Amino acid sequence: MNEGLLETSGWRPRMLGLIACGLCGLSLLADRATGAAGEKLKVVTSFMPLYCFASQVAGDDAEVQNLLPGNVGPHEYQPTRSDHDKLRAADIFLINGLKLEDWVLPMTKGRHGPKPLKVVEVSRGLESELIYDIPGLSLNGPGNRTQPAERGPDPNPHIWLDPRLAIRMVTNVLEAFRAADPVHAAHYERNAAVCVERLRALDRDYSERLAGVAATPIVTSHDAFAYLARRYSLNVLGVIEVIPDVGPSLKYQGQLRQLIQSRGVKAIFGEPRAPGKTASQLAADTGVRLASLDTLETADARGLRPSAYEDAMRDNLKTLVENLK
Ligand SMILES: [Zn+2]
Repeated sequence: MNEGLLETSGWRPRMLGLIACGLCGLSLLADRATGAAGEKLKVVTSFMPLYCFASQVAGDDAEVQNLLPGNVGPHEYQPTRSDHDKLRAADIFLINGLKLEDWVLPMTKGRHGPKPLKVVEVSRGLESELIYDIPGLSLNGPGNRTQPAERGPDPNPHIWLDPRLAIRMVTNVLEAFRAADPVHAAHYERNAAVCVERLRALDRDYSERLAGVAATPIVTSHDAFAYLARRYSLNVLGVIEVIPDVGPSLKYQGQLRQLIQSRGVKAIFGEPRAPGKTASQLAADTGVRLASLDTLETADARGLRPSAYEDAMRDNLKTLVENLK
């Protein structure tokens, strides 16, 4: 686990604090590697969880803007002209990576802004943690799985829904901030440590409150909760949309209905932004309760603010506990 970066470098905040104080006077004279003298580090994030992590690490020392509008998710995004303008002014562009934001590539290729832009994938270093399973019905065996032929062996990108992997993401965010703006490294480290502590508390709460109910079979809308499920042993028997935002075939819906009935699925979870006709129909057909879990891919439910990630994760925990009992 790469969390050690924050755990084993306890000396660094103090040392870097001293160094930073000594450099404060110089910082106004010397250009940062990527910005003009006296300018704050400018950071752009692709979507809500990264905005929350980056804002918390930034504190008052850097400016963080999010690229996606509140009501749009990262799976199928089409960048606008103002997105290009935002990136032109940025020093760092933080993305999830794992092919979640493939629309980013044309934006950064052959880019001619006033300053160099560093694109950082906050999923780096997580290779050994990645899930490659193609989602679908988990019990019918490969022969009966409905799999889209065009889907290759890409990793599941939804790492942010596991608080412990979120800690690793924050560590990568911190690394990017330190490298781009070493003068404020001590502040960033202190802020990141606070953020990590909150994520550890979140992880503890998930572990404690899901103990005893986690094994209850459930169905989710798309395969966003694979990492969360693995971490806390949730029993996701199937997903409704094998490809996010693409409705399932009637044949697949029939298989899912059968699975829900034969395996005693306790709850079907849609998503707050798009509860989904299929989810409602499946719940109505099978008499299974319908609730919603936030994938945190958009920010419209609670507004874009630094605490939005934790608030949504805590709401999800409450929803899970209430519906799995
Ligand atoms: Zn997703």
